[in-house]
Amino acid sequence: MTNEPMPNQTPALCASCNSTLQGEYCHHCGEKRIEPGKDLSLLAFLNETI
Ligand SMILES: [Zn+2]
Repeated sequence: MTNEPMPNQTPALCASCNSTLQGEYCHHCGEKRIEPGKDLSLLAFLNETI
């Protein structure tokens, strides 16, 4: 067994400036946090509405 530390969450990085996000928005450029899971559900939602 490996004994490597496994973080529950990968540190969110700003899509624009690659800064580590400390909240919902980037403190560096103000870009909103992008969550891949949300994007996928949004895509599915769009697919159903179209
Ligand atoms: Zn940023």
